[in-house]
Amino acid sequence: MSWRDLYCGELRTDHIGKRVTVAGWADTRRDHGGLVFIDLRDHTGKLQLVVNPERAADAAQAAREIRNEFVLQAEGEIVARGPESVNPNLPTGDVEMQVDKLSILSRSTPLPFQLDEENVDETLRLRYRWLDLRRDRMQRNFRLQHTAISAMRRAMDAQSFIDVWTPSMTRGTPEGARDFLVPVRLQPGKFFALAQSPQIFKQLCMVGGFDRYYQIATCWRDEDLRADRQFEFRQLDLEMAFVEREDVLDVMETAVVASFEALGRAAPSRPFPRISFDEAMTRYGSDKPDIRFGLEIQDATAVTRESEFGVFRNAEAVRFIVAPRAFSRSEIQRLEDLAKEWGAKGLAYVVVGEDGEVRSPIAKFLAPSELAAIEAPPGSTVLFGAGSDAAVLRVLGLLRLHLGRELGLIDPDLDVFHWVLDFPLFEQDEESGKWTFMHHAFTAPVAGAEVWDEASPAGVRGQHYDLVWNGWELGSGSIRIHDVEVQQRVFRTIGLTEEEAQSKFGYLLEALAMGAPPHGGFAMGIERFIALLAGEPDIRQVIAFPKVSSGSDPLTGTPTAMPDDVLRELGIQVLPQEDSSSA
Ligand code: ASP
Repeated sequence: MSWRDLYCGELRTDHIGKRVTVAGWADTRRDHGGLVFIDLRDHTGKLQLVVNPERAADAAQAAREIRNEFVLQAEGEIVARGPESVNPNLPTGDVEMQVDKLSILSRSTPLPFQLDEENVDETLRLRYRWLDLRRDRMQRNFRLQHTAISAMRRAMDAQSFIDVWTPSMTRGTPEGARDFLVPVRLQPGKFFALAQSPQIFKQLCMVGGFDRYYQIATCWRDEDLRADRQFEFRQLDLEMAFVEREDVLDVMETAVVASFEALGRAAPSRPFPRISFDEAMTRYGSDKPDIRFGLEIQDATAVTRESEFGVFRNAEAVRFIVAPRAFSRSEIQRLEDLAKEWGAKGLAYVVVGEDGEVRSPIAKFLAPSELAAIEAPPGSTVLFGAGSDAAVLRVLGLLRLHLGRELGLIDPDLDVFHWVLDFPLFEQDEESGKWTFMHHAFTAPVAGAEVWDEASPAGVRGQHYDLVWNGWELGSGSIRIHDVEVQQRVFRTIGLTEEEAQSKFGYLLEALAMGAPPHGGFAMGIERFIALLAGEPDIRQVIAFPKVSSGSDPLTGTPTAMPDDVLRELGIQVLPQEDSSSA
């Protein structure tokens, strides 16, 4: 038996006079006394069914019982709609079906929410995700996702990459997050970690002679959930042997452009612009700057060295941005509150009114040379950061982003991809003073910098690169260390003893010592990329079954406690929880 001849969304005036069978969900049902109208929906669209008791008494009987989201099969004749009922907003809006036979294939209990209802609580939507996924928006997102990922795979195949599966259950792979642990019944008390990425395995694939590896890899990271973060997510993960940075960037740009083209969208032009980490930080106060708008950070450190204003004179750095608007006192107050939330002590400012008049509590302390260096036109506000350079850049970077959005300086139609290059290899933890890697422990230093002061590695640059789209970090990669001594030096610099390095990474050190080719790679977050392509504000909208911010899955009601006998078998005892209300 065939359930349907055509999809609901396919019917057009060409089909007028034809008898067809369609099947799908009852999107709406309108009972007009005698006639019943049903919009029948499938993944391609909607078709209006008209059930006329004079034409089909049995069908009319069945139609009376139908409620939203019942699954139906209808057989009948496609006819032209009367001129008054043509719906120009619907691709099938010129036609309708005069139903002869109507079968209810499946019923639905009353719905927890209507599919077209606005502002339904997200947890409720996720609890009934199978209903939520029927919505147009979700259907669109997942089909778009499929098109983009298929195009990426084709782009990788065309560039001679092979898809190799790497283990999910492994040793901790340090990507800067906590591991999810997997207990092992056969070895009670011992655990695997779920891979935070295939990082070391893909490097071993290079040592193993595969030359070019890729995978749409699932990664697990125990981090707080946010708009762009879930416990599990996927990466377009790749690694290449005998390459330089430019080769890797070229492959990634090809994959990105292939996705745009497969979706019929104007692709970003290549090569994507590149800026150095230092430039990103000093001009935009961020290592993933949104460069769709200006409002760049400017430096006033040199001109304020002799300032009468002590806050400026004594600060390590004085920087500012010039907002294109003369803010009122209350607007400045709000900005200052934000700056304080971000860690600033205050927010010095100079308002230049439309008439050129300067309003500022600090202007009287500023010498003409200082004011001249600021170059603020009438109708603008200069906002200063003064303090440690890192803090000043961070606060002004956040302020810049906030004002870019508030003042409508960002053109939402722009798609700007760019690379951030030349990151430091190490960074220092502000609290402990310890040095750690900036990307991960396997990134190579720039050529010629293979030896450094291990106690104080500030200034060593790494061959690390990030891809940024409209201010979202899409992914990271690097040229890797392929020399075992350099790898050991990195481990020592980040504070691992010889024994720790051996016990955690002995297998990598051995592999590097057995003929490791020069290699490098990249990983791009699939969900972030797709969310941006789909114009969604968060990645949950492009994940079929995501978790909510508490880390729970409302659909399956997980995570759950486990019975004692299961835990005993695994050698696990659960400690009493201080606060069990968060479950
Ligand atoms: N493994 C890295 C990450 O997940 C990406 C890479 O260096 O290829 O960020």
